[in-house]
Amino acid sequence: MAQRPGFPIKLDQQVKATPAKAIAAKLAPAKAVAAKPQAFGMESSAVRQRMVQKLAAQGLKDPMVLQAMGAVERHRFVESALVTQAYEDTSLPIGLGQTISKPNVVARMIELLREGATGKLGRVLEIGTGCGYQAAVLSHIATEVYSIERLKGLHEKARANLRHFRLANVHLLFGDGMLGYPKGAPYAGIISAAGGENLPEAWLEQLAVGGRLVAPTLTSNGHQALMVVDKTAHGFQHSVLEAVHFVPLKSGIS
Ligand code: SAH
Repeated sequence: MAQRPGFPIKLDQQVKATPAKAIAAKLAPAKAVAAKPQAFGMESSAVRQRMVQKLAAQGLKDPMVLQAMGAVERHRFVESALVTQAYEDTSLPIGLGQTISKPNVVARMIELLREGATGKLGRVLEIGTGCGYQAAVLSHIATEVYSIERLKGLHEKARANLRHFRLANVHLLFGDGMLGYPKGAPYAGIISAAGGENLPEAWLEQLAVGGRLVAPTLTSNGHQALMVVDKTAHGFQHSVLEAVHFVPLKSGIS
């Protein structure tokens, strides 16, 4: 039986003693083992707990959100070359020119979405599924999550990423999120991961009375900021919060 090479393989010794073909044969099993070397340690919940501690130190405090951030394995949503950065507070490319938001921004927006709520939110609509990470986090804080993506490639990527988690309350939709998703309305919360010039009318219509919308939007000075809109029995209340940098909200599908 062929012996499996140790790790790291001592290339120098093998090169001296063995013809090239035999080296390739010996290296093959090591390659298979090393295909996901960066995932070492990521399976452990300790790495996520450290991320949660950092989020708490940054001022995030909703226990349900922190628990959700600690539960979802972010490394399963990024390319293998980026896995070592999965729990750092950084946004990362997810393909087709789009990015997964930093953990701090995801947690902050979901904390805003949940503000004042006791227990889980009801139905939540997410615009911009991307790789599906935020949808997975939302599945811990809402009874049903409807997440819509306009790029077919990412919609499919999210479906593949989320399969592992078997989240029965996440519904992935392919379409233009600027139109919302009337079939799931009214929503207790609407959260957008892409920033437009204005808030689409459909979102405001599909928000339940007592519901809240959190979305990056251009402000009057031309910068993007987080916008929070509460729908009350007496109309809408808007607040403009901190500056953010989200990918643009685009209409149509592609
Ligand atoms: N929540 C995502 C972040 C993805 S980035 C994650 O966890 O990975 C924002 C996403 O919004 C991009 O994938 C982009 O294609 C999508 N998007 C932009 N405009 C959209 C629209 N009108 N409808 C649906 N998705 C849209």
